[in-house]
Amino acid sequence: SVNIKNVQKKFDEQVVLTRINLEVRDHEFLVLLGPSGCGKSTLLRMIAGLDNPSSGQIYIGGTDATRLPPKDRNIAMVFQNYALYPHLSVFENIAFPLRVRGEERAAIEKKVRWAAQIVEIERHLSRKPRQMSGGERQRTALARSLVREPAVFLLDEPLSNLDAKLRHTAREELRLFQERVGLTSVYVTHDQVEAMGLGQRIVVMDRGEIRQIGTPRDIYESPADTFVATFIGSPP
Ligand code: ATP
Ligand code: MG
Repeated sequence: SVNIKNVQKKFDEQVVLTRINLEVRDHEFLVLLGPSGCGKSTLLRMIAGLDNPSSGQIYIGGTDATRLPPKDRNIAMVFQNYALYPHLSVFENIAFPLRVRGEERAAIEKKVRWAAQIVEIERHLSRKPRQMSGGERQRTALARSLVREPAVFLLDEPLSNLDAKLRHTAREELRLFQERVGLTSVYVTHDQVEAMGLGQRIVVMDRGEIRQIGTPRDIYESPADTFVATFIGSPP
């Protein structure tokens, strides 16, 4: 689980996040939804340790991780651009974090095959990224995060540079993948349709504040305020 307690973030004098309290439960797929600039990426980056809160604490798996560097947080972050190494095969891309850790060859081989099988790219392991479709590249990036067996998976608009059709397919794949593996995930998007389709719970944010937390159905049927209703497109 991830526990965010009274987290505030300022850049210079500008308050970007106002006393955020939020729990990400084990095995849940939580979506952070809100308009551009509301603070979604900033919150995600603080969970990852890429940025520090101005005040407040972040607990990961029950321990205070507020001051821990990213490498000690047991967290994987998947970005918009998958940042695969073009000169390495798919296999070597997925194996990369394990090689950095200095794991043994046999263990690496086993973990890479396990992750590749989950995202269904085991037939493409000897290819280069440029020989893969956008969706397959995305799955390669997911597999590369998976092999590290992170406690928490952070995804910041990972589908945003795919075209509409591929995005739909990738979203569906991601949903099935989540159901199968049961990862603890925080997924950031500004797309209501994506949030409604993927989230087990959705956190609706606006201008650095949480407006509502609930299941897609809760939020659609009982929006907390007019901002949420308008943003989600609930019936009046
Ligand atoms: P988007 O959907 O466009 O990605 P977001 O919800 O992820 O938006 P953030 O990137 O978290 O938004 O930014 C929140 C606010 O903080 C914005 O007003 C942004 O300009 C500001 N901000 C983000 N990073 C910095 C920084 N390093 N220095 C100063 N201001 C920043
Ligand atoms: Mg963002």
